[in-house]
Amino acid sequence: MTGTILDQLNRPMKDLRISVIDQCNFRCTYCMPAEIFGEDYAFLPPDQLLSFDEIVELTKSFVKFGVEKIRITGGEPLMRKDLHLLIQRLHQVDGIKDIAVTTNGVFLVRQAKKLKEAGLNRVNISLDAIEDEVFKETNGRGIKTKPVLKGIEAAREAGLDVKINMVVKKGMNESQILPMARYFKDTGDTLRFIEFMDVGNHNGWNMDAVVPKKEIIEMIHEEMPLEPVDAAYYGEVADRYRYKGATSEIGVISSVTEAFCSSCTRIRLSADGQLFTCLFATEGYDLKEKLRSRASIEEIENWLIDLWTGRNDQYSVDRSKEKPKDKRKIEMSYIGG
Ligand code: SAM
Ligand code: SF4
Ligand code: SF4
Repeated sequence: MTGTILDQLNRPMKDLRISVIDQCNFRCTYCMPAEIFGEDYAFLPPDQLLSFDEIVELTKSFVKFGVEKIRITGGEPLMRKDLHLLIQRLHQVDGIKDIAVTTNGVFLVRQAKKLKEAGLNRVNISLDAIEDEVFKETNGRGIKTKPVLKGIEAAREAGLDVKINMVVKKGMNESQILPMARYFKDTGDTLRFIEFMDVGNHNGWNMDAVVPKKEIIEMIHEEMPLEPVDAAYYGEVADRYRYKGATSEIGVISSVTEAFCSSCTRIRLSADGQLFTCLFATEGYDLKEKLRSRASIEEIENWLIDLWTGRNDQYSVDRSKEKPKDKRKIEMSYIGG
């Protein structure tokens, strides 16, 4: 059965990203600006979220398409009640070799050990500045770095593989590129810089606010010489560099200045069961409806084969071309990174 589905695919499906909740305790200015996501913003009610049973069922199908890696994201995934129970069940799905979570880190102090014991392998922790005054602005909630740094420590102590994600936006935190590189070079954690992207409709993105990969690398290389490292696997999104004479690495995700759509192997499932083949999509495919209307697994898998083989997303390649501006894109807080 596995062979037959894989044989029909024109590109591998490797990386399943599951958003488990669309809510968050932060209001990062580049993701959920507080003026839009205010007190009266309507997030998804719990009964609209996919249940753990449904997520596990769907994951078993995705494995037949080649998925081996799962990334749990959000919103803030650690706000989903009993997340460790979901991880535990996903860990038991045959064929799943790697489970990661992307989180803002503040709930890790309480949850890291439990998540690791449940089968979590890796955690990407977002931190956009090492200086409190800058971080308080970027997270939109006046939160200092300490709770995140404690979360990072808790993840390390629990034995999780840790990477740090820093979104770089001109005028927001480019002053933090070097201080963050120095800090994490010493701790040995891989720091990944992410070019500010035009996800969603509310973050005021424009090309002038993007600090290109090239500038980030040059800035660091001048003080702390770097050498490139080969990609670890097909479709790896971060370009990797190692500090000369050291083992610690940095990565840069340059989805704006160097698009990598042709090797995109990711598929995304929203918290309410919509499926997206691109982060910049305007609409998804209603997998929850299929599941709840009792379509057979075979019907769902055939539908998935058509959807995957028919995908022609290349938003990042087309970004610079003139496009109609009337379509609303999905939000990062809804679909995760
Ligand atoms: N709340 C979790 C967190 O912040 O890690 C998980 C969800 S968050 C949407 C996933 C990732 O997307 C984070 O690393 C975040 O920094 C990144 N992100 C959000 N908005 C972005 C944007 N406009 N451009 C680039 N990366 C963005
Ligand atoms: Fe929340 Fe993550 Fe978005 Fe920040 S980037 S607002 S932590 S979902
Ligand atoms: Fe994949 Fe869409 Fe990003 Fe291109 S723009 S790499 S297709 S998610």
